[in-house]
Amino acid sequence: KDMKKPPHIAILPSPGMGHLIPLAEFAKRLVLHHNLSVTFISLSADSSSKAQKAILDALSNNNNITSIPLPPIHLDDVPSDAKIETRISLTVERSLPALRTLLGSLNTTSPLSALVVDLFGTDAFGVARELGVPSFIFYPTTSTMLSFFLHLPELDNSSTCEFRHLSEPVKLPGCIPFHGKDLLDPVQDRKNDAYKWLLHHCQRYKEAEGILVNSFVDLEPGPIKALLLKEKEEKWPMIYPVGPLIQTTSSRDGGSNNCLNWLDQQPPGSVLFVSFGSGGTLSQEQLEELALGLEMSGHRFLWVARSPNQKESGATFFSVESSREPFDFLPEGFLSRTQGQGLVVASWAPQIEVLKHGSTGGFLSHCGWNSTLESITHGVPLIAWPLYAEQKMNALMLADDLGVALRPSAREETGLVRREEIARVIKVLFSTQSLQGRRVRDRMQELKDAAGRALGVQGSSYQALSEVVGQWKKNKAAATDASI
Ligand code: UDP
Repeated sequence: KDMKKPPHIAILPSPGMGHLIPLAEFAKRLVLHHNLSVTFISLSADSSSKAQKAILDALSNNNNITSIPLPPIHLDDVPSDAKIETRISLTVERSLPALRTLLGSLNTTSPLSALVVDLFGTDAFGVARELGVPSFIFYPTTSTMLSFFLHLPELDNSSTCEFRHLSEPVKLPGCIPFHGKDLLDPVQDRKNDAYKWLLHHCQRYKEAEGILVNSFVDLEPGPIKALLLKEKEEKWPMIYPVGPLIQTTSSRDGGSNNCLNWLDQQPPGSVLFVSFGSGGTLSQEQLEELALGLEMSGHRFLWVARSPNQKESGATFFSVESSREPFDFLPEGFLSRTQGQGLVVASWAPQIEVLKHGSTGGFLSHCGWNSTLESITHGVPLIAWPLYAEQKMNALMLADDLGVALRPSAREETGLVRREEIARVIKVLFSTQSLQGRRVRDRMQELKDAAGRALGVQGSSYQALSEVVGQWKKNKAAATDASI
């Protein structure tokens, strides 16, 4: 009787723009390319940001996508120094009762073929299981990180010291080796709750029926091949590389037109876009060096500047509205000296439109995975400036393995990147003379072409997604047969 209705999927992103954005894109793709119907369930602690609301509103404009926010939960009792992974995981955990009620009623009115969570959503697996709904993970970052997540329980068993004290680098099958100090933030302090939460999620990954990853075969051939082998040898969940899934337009704020109008007036490929994602902040000292480095390079720049922090971090992750204007944190006289050379905007820029713009020729990025995929999709070469989460691992892969990014070196003792070094790297990236600069630009162009091919109808990512969707359609057919 229900044969005509498209299969129905529920998607549950964990809090944070970096999770919400790719899962929203994923939802759209399922509806537009594969004719599914999606309920998109959003979680928030306290209240959600304007940027988050904008994305959810835009999503509801699609036929066959229903966006349902669960009631905000409170984290007032959580210590103020609790890390982001702890906050996210607690938000998911405390939302489970409301999720149980919602999924139960959805499943009655329109049976679910799957529940898709993201990297920190594994605690929803139990709710899905109670309803007999299979669980999947949409993993919004690299296959390399996914491999690390799947191996973390083993790594945890095999050593007791902090990973940065390991004498040997960590070697994951098919991946470049990583020194302990370069591994993602939450594993840097094994006594912290953030590590315990992460390990908890990693231990549950194998309960998933399948894991979709926002990467593609030509971007990470080694790690992907190794994961597919594990899936066969050790009955790990099926792995589906389905990326790059990125936004096609950015959420905008009042200053967006200003950025784009300014870009319109610059020569082709001349501008360096500088941005540290939705939450990245620099220390006051580093921010000043960056400003003076940009100035010293003599190149044009468009900089999304945020107020500095005590420590470099992702402190504004939950709320992107943190910048204060006027820019009194910039070096004295900087704005007037760089008038005509650069534009500084507060907090937010329409990143997709900026990367797509013909005047943009480089991107100094914190290497958040969405930003990275957006840069690849638009063929913009990178200067890698990792700050938090798994960004150091991404930066190493982009610079050392793929050769699509340049990496400024930091002072050994302080970690500070000096203005001279910043100016030097910017010059190399834009130079017509430098072999290194040309290589990075050419490699990025090749990767852009490969990304386009992966998403085409014959491409590896399109095929992988069709395979999962085929499985969901089969589940639905089986359920419908059973109910006739
Ligand atoms: N973004 C944007 N404007 C900004 C900063 C970020 O549109 O000024 C978008 C960006 O295009 C990307 C996302 O926010 O889609 C940031 O995700 P990413 O994974 O790069 O970093 P995170 O914010 O998770 O650290």
